Amino acid sequence: MNKREFIKRSAILGAGTLIAPTIASSCMNSAAQAGATASLVAQSEDGTFLQPDLGYAFDALEPHVDAMTMEFHYGKHHAGYTKKFNAALVHADFHSTDIYKLFSSVSTHGNAIRNNGGGYFNHNLYWKFMSPEGGGEPEGKLAEAIAADFGSFTEFKELFTATAASHFGSGWGWLLLDAEGKLQVTSLPNQDNPLMDVSPVRGTPLLNIDVWEHAYYLHYQNMRKSYVEAYWNVIDWKFVQALYEEAQG
Ligand code: MN
Repeated sequence: MNKREFIKRSAILGAGTLIAPTIASSCMNSAAQAGATASLVAQSEDGTFLQPDLGYAFDALEPHVDAMTMEFHYGKHHAGYTKKFNAALVHADFHSTDIYKLFSSVSTHGNAIRNNGGGYFNHNLYWKFMSPEGGGEPEGKLAEAIAADFGSFTEFKELFTATAASHFGSGWGWLLLDAEGKLQVTSLPNQDNPLMDVSPVRGTPLLNIDVWEHAYYLHYQNMRKSYVEAYWNVIDWKFVQALYEEAQG
C-alpha cells in the first residue's frame, strides 16, 4: 500500500482503528479477542502502536488521582514509552504486530523492547482499570474466584495493597490469572509484566497499579500507601470482570 492509499484508508477507518491482537500466549484463548482484551492494544494500519484514548478527562478521577498527575502521566510518560517502543521495533528482529507473542519472547529482544514495550502496554491497562464510576467490589465469577483463592475480597485487598505499597523501587502491582486458572498477586520491577518470559510469575493480567513515583508523587509525595489505598475508589471492576471472563473462555 502506498502512502496515498494508506492516508485514504486511514481516513475511512480512523487513525486509531482498533485491531484485535492475535492471542498466542498459552494462558489465553480465542475468546480473548472479544471486547475488553482487544481494547488493550491500539494499532494503526501500518502496525504502529498507538495510545488508546483515555476515555475520561484528566480531572475525572479527582480527588483520588489528580489532574496534573494524569496529564503528565498520560501525555508525557506514556506517550514517551509509546514513541520509544515504536522506534525500538523498527530495529528489532521481530516481524509481527502481536504484542503478546513479543512479550512471551521478550528476553531475546533487548532492554529497549522490554522496558518501552512494557511501559506502553502496562499503562494501556492501567487507564482501563480506572473509571470515574469505579470503586466498590467485583461481582459474579470474579468475586467467587477471589473468595476461593484469597479467602475474601478484604483479604485480597489487603494483600494487593501491601504488595504494591511495599514493592522496592519502581514497578507495578499485579493481579493475574495463572495457567492453572488460579488468581495470584505479585509485584514486578520497572516495566515488566506477567506476560513476559522474564517474569517469575506468569499469567494473564487482570489488574495492575503503577507504583513508579511519577504515578503519585505530585499529590501524595512519599505516601505511596495512601495512593494505593485511594486506588480502590476508582477501580473499574466491570472491566476487570470482563478480562477475567475472556481469559477463562
Ligand atoms: Mn507510569
